Amino acid sequence: MKILVTGGAGFIGSTLTAALLDKGEKVAVIDDFNDFYDPGLKRENVKPFGGNPSFSLHEADIRNGRKVLEVFRDEAPEAVFHLAARAGVRPSIQSPMLYEEVNCAGTLNLLEAARLTGVKNFVFASSSSVYGINSKVPFSEDDPITCPISPYATTKRAGELMCFTYSHLYSIPVTCLRFFTVYGEKGRPDMAIAKFTRLIAEGREIQVYGDGSARRDFTYIGDIISGLLQSIYKPSRYEIINLGGSNTVELSRVISLIETNLGKKAVIKYTEPMPGDVPITFANVAKARRLLGFEPKVAIEEGVRRYVSWFLEKERNAVP
Ligand code: NAD
Repeated sequence: MKILVTGGAGFIGSTLTAALLDKGEKVAVIDDFNDFYDPGLKRENVKPFGGNPSFSLHEADIRNGRKVLEVFRDEAPEAVFHLAARAGVRPSIQSPMLYEEVNCAGTLNLLEAARLTGVKNFVFASSSSVYGINSKVPFSEDDPITCPISPYATTKRAGELMCFTYSHLYSIPVTCLRFFTVYGEKGRPDMAIAKFTRLIAEGREIQVYGDGSARRDFTYIGDIISGLLQSIYKPSRYEIINLGGSNTVELSRVISLIETNLGKKAVIKYTEPMPGDVPITFANVAKARRLLGFEPKVAIEEGVRRYVSWFLEKERNAVP
């Protein structure tokens, strides 16, 4: 099957691309290699695929609808994983317009191209952040989404709704997967586990927003990839499905796991909680279990151990 992965040079997209190529699928990637974080890391992510005849790369911006359609016409994908987005809650508060353009207009360009070229399955990367300050935990897909508290969260909810509209009008099968704080090898450098590991290893101070009691449902990358793969082989008419570790953990616990694995103590500066940050995320994954056979397998203790050992190995191999 030919599969298009948008954002395929990013953390989740490149890991997914590797898994799809391993399964013998043909993969086309669209990515603009922007500098939200070091684009060199994104180039490294796709480097192993170079020369693979089943892989093609389109360096393009999804805000350019004409270019997106050109790629769809060239590649004729049967299925699309739409992962390209401006991610991150806090930067979305600084640049709401950019998030709106990429995450909303960009998603609409993808859906239009999917409609015009007869795509058979469209998977949209949504986020647990849509739940906002939902007081009911764990979060379920049928909880009302009335209180997203960052532009990022709102753009992801808007993306889900536009997916519903296209699924309804044009019978495009769509699955919206709400990821819960994904971490692991190649993890995004702006996210807590990657950032804290680097700073603690270098003996530098880490900033914790709030008192460390904020809880996140951290989800190991391998579990997310299993859920993504299931969604492509089990298309649905239109579904929203949580993909989470289903185990909420305090940030202070995660920091102590990083300390243990690095064998170093963190220097912590506690600051005010950041606007846009939610106090807790916690996924109910009953629907993912039922529809996708999803079962999160890697607990935070093992996931952090794997991440830190990957990080240390990378540091050892780094050219000075
Ligand atoms: P990432 O930033 O590593 O990957 C996103 C990729 O999209 C990047 O390679 C980036 O260059 C590309 N991209 C961004 N804007 C683009 C544009 N205009 N045109 C083309 N490409 C563009 O992030 P990630 O953590 O791998 O996240 C992947 C998806 O999952 C995103 O949609 C994100 O919102 C969603 N998500 C991630 C998490 C998480 O914890 N990592 C949680 C919830 C949802």
